[in-house]
Amino acid sequence: MSKIKENIQIVQEEIEQNLHENERNIRLVAVSKGQNYSAIRSAYEAGQKIFGESYLQEALDKKKFLDDLKIEWHFIGPIQSNKCKLISENFSWVQTVDRIKIANKLNQYKKSERPLNICIQVNISNEDTKSGINVNEVSQFAGLINNLKHLNLRGIMAIPSKTNEKQALISQYQALKDVYEELKNSYGSVDTLSVGMSNDYLLAIQNGANLVRVGTKIFGKRLK
Ligand SMILES: *Cc1c(COP(=O)(O)O)cnc(C)c1O
Repeated sequence: MSKIKENIQIVQEEIEQNLHENERNIRLVAVSKGQNYSAIRSAYEAGQKIFGESYLQEALDKKKFLDDLKIEWHFIGPIQSNKCKLISENFSWVQTVDRIKIANKLNQYKKSERPLNICIQVNISNEDTKSGINVNEVSQFAGLINNLKHLNLRGIMAIPSKTNEKQALISQYQALKDVYEELKNSYGSVDTLSVGMSNDYLLAIQNGANLVRVGTKIFGKRLK
């Protein structure tokens, strides 16, 4: 068995064993930034269908070699407004929307029948250096996105602050879960709480995440 296939199975099993109450459908996004296209192909052949990329040009370069695969692509990196057209055309999800200008452009360039799935990025640790909007702005921002015809609001995404203090992390997940539940009550399309990476996905799931973004634990060290 390939190492990648083995890793995916391990991650999937661990997810199964750590399900949060009421949450049965956890989606695993394999984060393939810094990995070459053949690693993506191996993961796909092992049954993985959802992949996340953070850098547009890198993603486009690899996508050329993967055209024959039915991959659901998620954009999970910082977004410059001049990249919105290509992001809209090449991804089915964008998880890192935190400015209305970007949302408008993504909406404007979405030409296909299917709307673009959107997560609002939330800055849960309130660090100035981080992307994402503050918790108290989410509700208003969600209303704006919900009005855009070609966007489908699916939920929120966050990168909790790096800390070894488990309790501090848990309180961040819980705050996110509260915001998520509130959104879910307001919008029928909302079904996604995207938190958790290689180092914390189990803890994130235990605290209500239902989409995790795992890179190195599946693919090993990034090439760059
Ligand atoms: C790189 C990245 C990941 C994956 O990180 P790992 O630690 O390799 O699992 C997840 N989410 C985002 C937003 C990333 O940029």
